Amino acid sequence: MASEELPIDPSLWPEPPPKEKVEEYLAELEKGPWPSHVTELKKTKYPVYIYGMGLVAGVTPWATSAAKAPGIYSGVLSRMSHPWTRINPPIFEDHARVLIPSAQVFTTTLLRFLIEASRRYGWGLMQFIGGTGDVVLNVVREKLIELDVFLRRIGLDIGGSGDVMRNTVSCPGPLLCPYAIYDTLKARDFTYSCLIDWATYPQFPYKIKFKYSGCPIDCLKAQARADYVVIGTWRGAPDIDNERLKQWIEEGGDVEELVKSCPTGAISWDGSRLNIDGSKCVKCMECIRRTYPAIKPGREKGLTVLVGGTIKSRTGPKLAKVLIPFIPLPSPDKLEEALMTMFQVIRDRIVPKWDEEGWRRERIGDTLIRVTWHRFLSDFAKFDPDLAAKITKAKPTEPYYTYGITFFNMSEEQKKKYLEDLEKAMESWQ
Ligand code: SF4
Repeated sequence: MASEELPIDPSLWPEPPPKEKVEEYLAELEKGPWPSHVTELKKTKYPVYIYGMGLVAGVTPWATSAAKAPGIYSGVLSRMSHPWTRINPPIFEDHARVLIPSAQVFTTTLLRFLIEASRRYGWGLMQFIGGTGDVVLNVVREKLIELDVFLRRIGLDIGGSGDVMRNTVSCPGPLLCPYAIYDTLKARDFTYSCLIDWATYPQFPYKIKFKYSGCPIDCLKAQARADYVVIGTWRGAPDIDNERLKQWIEEGGDVEELVKSCPTGAISWDGSRLNIDGSKCVKCMECIRRTYPAIKPGREKGLTVLVGGTIKSRTGPKLAKVLIPFIPLPSPDKLEEALMTMFQVIRDRIVPKWDEEGWRRERIGDTLIRVTWHRFLSDFAKFDPDLAAKITKAKPTEPYYTYGITFFNMSEEQKKKYLEDLEKAMESWQ
């Protein structure tokens, strides 16, 4: 049971469980050959006993609280021991969200500093969250400002909680991946240099997330998880290196399979030469994955910007839609210029309008559904009506195709067809 589900009437709250029972329960969790989280927690200053009370009673022992400190406007998550535990004075537990380096790449020195910070200013607990890329440090409330000063000295900031721009995540990009079309790490850093206020001052109807994927494979699943998504892409056909392709075939590569694997039939093979029809290519990366480096992303590189993806929100999960199909990126040093083109639409037009019209706790994807895609393009993104019409009517092989239509957003007829197709697909999988 979550804390807010506990009845308001204190007479209905559970009795604090007897001490022996709590200790017995915790001891049980330390048994067995596997590592025990209770044993590990006992090595820190975390109040394990409260945790045990919650387990025995079957309800959370924590209630929400608030922590404030001058200069820290976003980034502190706070809770206190729930009154039903009868712990007096209550124990407060605060966590600071730390904005961390791009691609979650830490040097050993930085990790040592973080460990030192968690021991010096908190209970010795740190949490590394993969998906959102957050580092959460447990902190003792009186030492919050000291922690803030310590982190700033090592070049980190506290931020990213509440109605702000949350931790911006990028894939490792050129650091690890040969497919990366642009420098996702640099793009993320540039976002912070332009929008750091958005990350540290709560000011929006709800949270904002940016994610940067280096290629259309989108390992981050950014299209499903971020309000604003930037994906590296290219114009026309993928780039074929015939010498390498020959080598790939000599080493056992199956060209027939390669031709069949293209979902749009863009690839053809005349027995000696491979051709790719750029007008049919939907940038799925399948041929590149199979043959790399014989086939690589096309030479005319660029960025595609999408808007409105979320997993949890008022209107349910949804994929982001293509907002700006192609911002040319003629060379890596033009990345900042390309990102500024995107910010001119997102920072200067969409977000201020969303600030005015967005409902409380409404992500931009929800607003987009509520006001309709067409009005979003003309009133929020301020695209001229012809361009807005072109985007809303695009077909799958056209660059403006908005492949993020959610089940929620479908007409009854579309829903029926979608479910029928899904059923057929499931039969074929069995
Ligand atoms: Fe076909 Fe995908 Fe290769 Fe484009 S990237 S040619 S759609 S397999």
